[in-house]
Amino acid sequence: MQIKVLGAAAGGGFPQWNCGCPNCRDVRAGTLDAARRTQECVAVASADGERWFLLNASPEIRAQLESYAALHPRGPRHSPIAAIVLTNGDLDHTLGLLSLRESHPLVIYATDCVRRGFCEDNSLYRTLQRFPQQVTWRTLVPGQPQELSGVDGRPSGLMIEAVAAPGKPPIHLEGHAAYDPAENIGLVIEDRATGKRLGYFSATSGITPAVRAALDSADCMFFDGTFWSSDELITLGLGAKRAEEMAHLPVGDAGGSLEICAGIRAPRRIYIHINNTNPLLRQHSPERMRAEAGGWEIAYDGMEVAL
Ligand SMILES: [Zn+2]
Ligand SMILES: [Zn+2]
Repeated sequence: MQIKVLGAAAGGGFPQWNCGCPNCRDVRAGTLDAARRTQECVAVASADGERWFLLNASPEIRAQLESYAALHPRGPRHSPIAAIVLTNGDLDHTLGLLSLRESHPLVIYATDCVRRGFCEDNSLYRTLQRFPQQVTWRTLVPGQPQELSGVDGRPSGLMIEAVAAPGKPPIHLEGHAAYDPAENIGLVIEDRATGKRLGYFSATSGITPAVRAALDSADCMFFDGTFWSSDELITLGLGAKRAEEMAHLPVGDAGGSLEICAGIRAPRRIYIHINNTNPLLRQHSPERMRAEAGGWEIAYDGMEVAL
């Protein structure tokens, strides 16, 4: 299985347009040993390597697709992108869909509540309804694996299973409807021929037994690296919310993911969806050295993983 990280940052990216935190300020000044990152998006190739599945559609999707030749058209009107998978309805994961409006049939995998949250009461969605079947939605139901495919239905050799992960509705839908546990999911993607499994949990506020089982079965796991500590934004004077209130399990605190995941068997463990304030972004920070000593890698734009 070929995996390409197109964007490794949390919502806002790194640097974020209205942020002058030490990380953002110093990366702009060129004085920080850290790489800029766009908002989270990962591409996974079909078993034959010919087609690609995007995990989430960031607001930076155009530049992300241009950044990788394997995702470029192979004809006058063509895209090797077979489908897009959404892990929740947050704008940093879905806004890119509206940028793919150039009359191209799209297949989108999402849970039913994420689909409804994106389509209902959204006049902008009409840009993806210019012709019948412009978008084909396929429903992800936690615990029910299915084979990924594109608009032609040709098998990809990849099975996908959604795993409900503790989360929250997108900010613009808070208070809109009762919370549905399928609002936020992780993914397990398995290569049918090799049995290799990718566990993908880019946002979660906790590790339930189902999440734990999915991570334990993975050969490679991507995990929520949004915040190093629960009070990261508060300490920097950037906000009043703790990481958990934004549905992110901090990395480095007592009871954080570094500690909880210490016994997980996945040979490769990678933090992704990293907020611009996170000290993990700095190449030689003590926090990063702690994560690396625990066997973790820190995702960056352009990172490739082969399973
Ligand atoms: Zn996000
Ligand atoms: Zn910042």
